[in-house]
Amino acid sequence: MTEPPVKAGNMAVRHCVQCRRVLAPLWLSLLSALSLGAPVANAQAPRDDLEPVSLQLLWYHQFQSAGYYAAQDQGYYRDAGFDVEIRHGGYDNQGRSVDPVEEVIFGRADFGVTRSDILLHHSRGAPVTVIANIMQRSPLTLLTLKRYGFDRLEDIGDRPVSLTLPTNNPDKRISAETVAALRKADVDIRALNNSPPSWDLDDLLSGTTQLTTAYRTDEPYLLRQVGATPVEIDPADYGVDFYGDTLFTHRQLADNEPERVAAFRDASLRGWEYALEHPEAIATLIEREYGTRSERHDREFLLHEAEQLRELMQPQLIEIGYMNPRRWESIAEVYQELGMIQQADIGSLLFTPESNGSPHLGRWLVPVGTVLALVLLAAGYLHVVNRHLTLEIARRRQAENALRVQAEKDGLTGIDNRRLFEAHIQREFQRARRHNLPLSLILFDIDNFKAINDDYGHLVGDRVLKAIPEATAPVLRSSDLFSRYGGEEFVVILPETPLDEACQVAERIRCVNGDHRIDGDVPNDPVTYTLSLGIAELQADDASAEDLVRRADTELYRAKTAGRNRLSSRMTP
Ligand code: GH3
Ligand code: MG
Ligand code: MG
Repeated sequence: MTEPPVKAGNMAVRHCVQCRRVLAPLWLSLLSALSLGAPVANAQAPRDDLEPVSLQLLWYHQFQSAGYYAAQDQGYYRDAGFDVEIRHGGYDNQGRSVDPVEEVIFGRADFGVTRSDILLHHSRGAPVTVIANIMQRSPLTLLTLKRYGFDRLEDIGDRPVSLTLPTNNPDKRISAETVAALRKADVDIRALNNSPPSWDLDDLLSGTTQLTTAYRTDEPYLLRQVGATPVEIDPADYGVDFYGDTLFTHRQLADNEPERVAAFRDASLRGWEYALEHPEAIATLIEREYGTRSERHDREFLLHEAEQLRELMQPQLIEIGYMNPRRWESIAEVYQELGMIQQADIGSLLFTPESNGSPHLGRWLVPVGTVLALVLLAAGYLHVVNRHLTLEIARRRQAENALRVQAEKDGLTGIDNRRLFEAHIQREFQRARRHNLPLSLILFDIDNFKAINDDYGHLVGDRVLKAIPEATAPVLRSSDLFSRYGGEEFVVILPETPLDEACQVAERIRCVNGDHRIDGDVPNDPVTYTLSLGIAELQADDASAEDLVRRADTELYRAKTAGRNRLSSRMTP
């Protein structure tokens, strides 16, 4: 990385790797251990010196995140020295799903909440550290209705079901639990009468499907509200027992500032304790301060969710936030059996501040420091510390490299991401200006992509997204720069290319994608899609690259309104 990602909070800014910063706490702890003989205390910041941090939730404001609102409202975060911005998850205002893992690893949030899939990301090299398991059990369940007369996976037979079965794409998180439960029940997934989930409870009510994936905290309640009798088939009954929501942070933050991360965790867990004891007050708080998603998510819904959460958290049995490495190991085994990961390193997934850098070293040095002073072994000791630091620096370099790759490539399609596009376009703009060269841009967007997601499911939607670079790359030249611009929008920078040539490239892109066939879930019934493309060329009076992008965007809009599956540029009538 040439520059740190744009950061939301102070912690993130400070945790950017600089070797000096790795060294500083170690030297400080050495000095304090020698002079004071006590571990470094976590001094509370004065109120006017609160540290701004951000927390990216997984879903919309509901009881699911009660503990964080409570920690905020009760002043636990403030007491710990934090000024916390709590952001809802779900979808953003452009309809793009918010991925807390991405928010944290790209530095847009300091802390995040996600489910057991964090293990997948971690095993694939994402620099994340889990700091607390909030839900001891997963909220995922399989849902049928009493009137369909079955309550075991073994009895599905040829009933119509709608489950996320990643037969061609073993990469999806919700499916892991479903598939594992089906396998444990000896159900042949390929023989199921399955259609992609519509995510619409009406299909379950009408019998179009008799079994679907759901969240036990939400859908059973909503079904009862309309007079139906839901029956849950719990993956845990088949030995698939995943964790639910977990609180996590960036690995660098956990490594560099373990005391602050522990302080944030402790304040959050105190919040959770409070929330479980005062559900009524928290429901009021959510309604008043945060606002719920829709009318259906009313106070009664929140209180019902609170009850369900107690069962998932089991606070009477298990300390809130408790992480059991053995259970993480067994979740990893399920992912391994399903071929989703090769191997997992649970030790480096879980936050254990005792083993993180300075505080541990400080404590260890208490007796050793005294002996050192007495027998003048300081030189030998410093040698050890030096070695430790060298290893630490090498490890961080490696982590930094992995982070750089992640920060520049789009996780789904593998092509350059928006961030890298911004860098390319600035550079190409400067070059075109300096040498007086033409420069063009093609911005394109999949037509009616929402309908593809709705009709075939998000798994197939993702497959379409992945197919775009496959189809498009062969018609580009090696000098063209191809990036994912956003959700289902892509962009190609064409250096040294005037508008008419760019339009020819755009037409080729339109054609190859229009001819492309993608496997859906039904054999011999491939999914097809079309693109709308806006093309623009740099003009003499453009003040910046943004002007060029803006014009391509306007042309894209024109292509959409003119009927889609077409190009638009200044040359188009
Ligand atoms: P239009 O022809 O006007 O572009 O219609 P559209 O349905 O494609 O509308 P729009 O571009 O606004 O919708 C984009 C949709 O793409 C919304 C979002 O749910 C979906 N989407 C965005 N990113 C992803 C992704 O990574 N995977 C999947 N499966 N869907 C995504
Ligand atoms: Mg679209
Ligand atoms: Mg779009």
